[in-house]
Amino acid sequence: MIYLDNAATTKTAPEVVEAMLPYFTELYGNPSSIYDLAAGSKKAITAGREIIANAIGADINEIYFTAGGSEADNWALVATAEAYAEKGKHIITSKIEHHAILHTCEYLAKRGYEITYLNVDESGVVRLDELEKAIRDDTILISIMFANNEIGTIQPIKEIGEIAKKHGILFHTDAVQAFGQLPINVDEFHIDMMSASGHKLNGPKGIGFCYIRKGLKIRSFIHGGAQERSRRAGTENVPGIVGFGKAVERALSMMTEKARREMELRDYLIDRMLTEIPYTRLNGGRTNRLPNNANFSFEFIEGESLLIMLDMEGICGSSGSACTSGSLDPSHVLLAIGLRHEIAHGSLRLTLSEENTKEEMDIVVDKVKAIVEKLRNMSPLYEDFVKKAGKEI
Ligand SMILES: *Cc1c(COP(=O)(O)O)cnc(C)c1O
Repeated sequence: MIYLDNAATTKTAPEVVEAMLPYFTELYGNPSSIYDLAAGSKKAITAGREIIANAIGADINEIYFTAGGSEADNWALVATAEAYAEKGKHIITSKIEHHAILHTCEYLAKRGYEITYLNVDESGVVRLDELEKAIRDDTILISIMFANNEIGTIQPIKEIGEIAKKHGILFHTDAVQAFGQLPINVDEFHIDMMSASGHKLNGPKGIGFCYIRKGLKIRSFIHGGAQERSRRAGTENVPGIVGFGKAVERALSMMTEKARREMELRDYLIDRMLTEIPYTRLNGGRTNRLPNNANFSFEFIEGESLLIMLDMEGICGSSGSACTSGSLDPSHVLLAIGLRHEIAHGSLRLTLSEENTKEEMDIVVDKVKAIVEKLRNMSPLYEDFVKKAGKEI
């Protein structure tokens, strides 16, 4: 098997699993209890929180564990909207956010909030002048993702943070794809709230966090016990937090080397795809993208058919977001960067890990090349196109 879907999820690293195991078998105490067994769980949570806080230049009291990135996104938006409703009901986001943001915005729009969805340029970058123009007296929140999960585009987060700060508006960023891949400092980038998830950086699934800057008025999201400073009730996911902490430690220690390796392979993959397969485009910018992300569109084919045929060859890729596969709508991200529907349909996202090899890239290009050719030969659209092109010559 060749796994190239690391933007959907990653393999839990063996050292992460190892670190988690004792918290299932022996150290299973509820951190809120008073006996010694519980103290061990409590200590483990604090250790995980410390690793994560240090990783982004935050204070440990600013990290709130959640059940993943989606929950952190929901929380940041809904709780801010509620807490700041008196100041205003206007929120600014972008057209290329993850559905955890976009669908939460739709939810808020139904409850009287006004949402501005910023356009992006052809490589997927938010335009700062458009952001400035969208700001109003009643704007309470700007939520722009750090890096896109489909096309890998990295946003000018520091500049966005500076604009938000200048206007006294809160700034949230969905950093689920960026955290562990890119250096992040919440003070340097003027981030007030940030979402991240364990399973995107070789940690376990079902654990994430929301960074919430000290002093913000944020309502609790899950009501119940006093966990997470009474803002997010529920017995802590102790093994998850331990694993998340370990995964963050691991990601930080290898960040530079991993990125270098992945970029080299990614660029090799992109070069071969673009030069050897005609009518192929790279979605997103050539350089300003996550080290492990490549996203292609092949004209005259259906991305779903390509994925199924790749799967039969043992290659795992994606047509975009895991959340949109199964639906027939083309990716909202690809449409936002200006792709026509037909072209957006023929897309393939390949996201690497540090374990991939050059040999794997060669196998993948060869297979994609053969499959695309086969699919095109069955396509009436392609047949028409070739006939027309023939006449013009
Ligand atoms: C995966 C992802 C999420 C959702 O995170 P979960 O932990 O799976 O809920 C949110 N935003 C982005 C950008 C993602 O890639």
